[in-house]
Amino acid sequence: MQSRVIDGKAVAADVRAGVARDVAALKAGHGLTPGLAVVLVGEDPASKVYVKNKGEQTKEAGMNSWEYRLPAETSEAEILAVVEKLNNDPAVNGILVQLPLPKHVNAERVLNTIDPNKDVDGFHPVNVGRLWIGERTLVPCTPTGSVILAKTVQPNLSGMNAVVIGRSNIVGKPVAALLLRENCTVTVAHSRTRNIESVVKGADLLIAAVGIPEMVKGDWVKPGAIVIDVGINRVPSANGKTKLVGDCDYESCAQVAGAITPVPGGVGPMTIACLLQNTVEAAKIQRGIK
Ligand code: NAD
Repeated sequence: MQSRVIDGKAVAADVRAGVARDVAALKAGHGLTPGLAVVLVGEDPASKVYVKNKGEQTKEAGMNSWEYRLPAETSEAEILAVVEKLNNDPAVNGILVQLPLPKHVNAERVLNTIDPNKDVDGFHPVNVGRLWIGERTLVPCTPTGSVILAKTVQPNLSGMNAVVIGRSNIVGKPVAALLLRENCTVTVAHSRTRNIESVVKGADLLIAAVGIPEMVKGDWVKPGAIVIDVGINRVPSANGKTKLVGDCDYESCAQVAGAITPVPGGVGPMTIACLLQNTVEAAKIQRGIK
């Protein structure tokens, strides 16, 4: 059986279209144009590309976008001052500090200084707590995108056995919290898990967020399972260049799964789309709009 391929680019385009409709409604109904400020410190080439894409897509959705590009040697105190300025600016609804930050900066201190209601990455401890206790909050973008993709296959995930591989604060833990909210029975597997193949084999829904190229093989996967591959790994390719692969061995997993996300073109495109969604949600939370 060849599985259904979940088209992350198409789903992300739908999410962005929904954001643009929400933005138009906020403008018309509340005179509110949501705005996202992105802070980039240093010259990391990948970060520059992300920030450029974020800015472009923010504007395409009809929102305001600001970029704060600071030199790599900017002190932590100066970065904190920028964050405080954005916290106090009512036109700014979302603040994103692009990671990684230079080594001399305490990233945790910077992220924890962002007003939780403007924390569109959803990394602030207040938002982490709100997520786990089931309150309205800003949820990390990649986990949200992963669950949206799973729901394009099975809109009601209730009662499914979900296995998450990886327990990072950025992906594994928040995706586990979201799946619990969806009434899945959630197992979190990680580097110390024994017999991981047999744990994965029990999954109706598998979310792989490990960072090990093609770790999950087809014979680990339950026939018909939904496989969401969050991994983005650059590996050497046959032509001497490099290529991107996921944490799942696509060829073998696609023979067994009911549906699977490709890499690239699966979870990746969802992250910015969900960031835009979070900016709208942040604006609504700040204005007390349902
Ligand atoms: P991380 O390194 O912070 O966490 C990896 C997790 O995998 C850890 O919790 C660890 O316990 C677990 N792990 C490590 N070795 C393992 C093993 N042998 N067996 C089982 N579990 C093991 O990584 P992260 O930030 O969570 O990212 C995971 C992957 O997702 C990476 O490939 C990253 O590039 C990708 N990612 C993609 C997006 C996106 O937009 N699509 C966003 C964030 C991360």
